[in-house]
Amino acid sequence: MAGAHAPGEKCVFCDIVARRSPAWIVYEDEKTLAFLDIFPFTRGHLLVVPKRHGARLTDIPFDDQMALIRALDEVCRRCERLTPDYNVALNAGARAGQIVFHVHFHVIPRYGEANPFRASSRVPLAESEARAVVAELSRP
Ligand code: AMP
Ligand code: ZN
Repeated sequence: MAGAHAPGEKCVFCDIVARRSPAWIVYEDEKTLAFLDIFPFTRGHLLVVPKRHGARLTDIPFDDQMALIRALDEVCRRCERLTPDYNVALNAGARAGQIVFHVHFHVIPRYGEANPFRASSRVPLAESEARAVVAELSRP
């Protein structure tokens, strides 16, 4: 789907939506995509993104926002196959910790870790773990 960023400006999530970059996709519908975070805070850390580019939630049309929430609900239900405990987060703006300026919700399963939200707790997603999580979460 067409993005709204400037021509020539790169957006990693638009590249994933357009299948120009790889991702471990667990959910897709007409307006949204969900895939594994490549530097997960915990096992099964997911990102839910609108296919339409916008830096923040308030940059995309209301129907895309609603589609995103609907997809978030579905992704949360699937996340509950892993654990009933999870965080849902949206970082809007650099000072709020946003580093990819294409709006996304994080869904972060919790398994009893004290505090997984530290840079030092992040290691690149392992292929074996990604395959196992996709197998658990990609089925409807
Ligand atoms: P935020 O700080 O909310 O902007 O988070 C952006 C997230 O995107 C981070 O957790 C990154 O690890 C994740 N990320 C960046 N590039 C990719 C990618 N190519 N595939 C999956 N996740 C990514
Ligand atoms: Zn984008």
